[in-house]
Amino acid sequence: MKMKPLPWMCSHCRERAVQLVMLPYSTEISHDGRTYTVNIPDLQVGRCERCGNTVLPHAASQRITETFRQQRGFLKPEEIRQERKRLGLTQKELASLIGSADATLSRLETGTQMQSRLMDNSLRLFFALPEVRDLLRQLNEDPHSGTAAELATGTEASVSG
Ligand SMILES: [Zn+2]
Repeated sequence: MKMKPLPWMCSHCRERAVQLVMLPYSTEISHDGRTYTVNIPDLQVGRCERCGNTVLPHAASQRITETFRQQRGFLKPEEIRQERKRLGLTQKELASLIGSADATLSRLETGTQMQSRLMDNSLRLFFALPEVRDLLRQLNEDPHSGTAAELATGTEASVSG
C-alpha cells in the first residue's frame, strides 16, 4: 500500500502538518465482551506538529491487530487457511462442520475479522484431532445421531485401554 507524500493534512486542525513519528503506543481493544490493553513500544504513527492529533496509518492498525492476536494466542489467518487445505476441505465444508457461516470463516482467513476464543478453540480441536472431525462429520450427517459417548462407541475411533 502506497502512502501519500508527507506532510499529510490534519483532520483535526486542517493544517498540512502531519509527520510520521515513532511512539510508544497503548490502546484498548474490545473483544469477546471484554476489554484488552495492547502496548506497542515502537509504533509508527502520524502526528500533527501543530495540534498533536494522532493518525493511525493502515500499517499501524494492522500491527495493533497482529500484536493483539499474538497476545491472545489466536490462530493466524494463514494458519487457518493452511490447516483447512491440509485436510482437503473448502471454506464451506469446514464452516458447516464446525457450525459456522462460511462468510465468517472467509473473513477469518483474510484477517478482516478476529475469531472469538470459542471459535479459536473449535478450530484447534478440529485441526488437531481426527476423533473430533469424525464426530462432527457424523453429527453433520445426522444431527439426531446421539450423544458424543454413543457416537464414539459406535466408531473405530474409540480405542479402549
Ligand atoms: Zn492538527
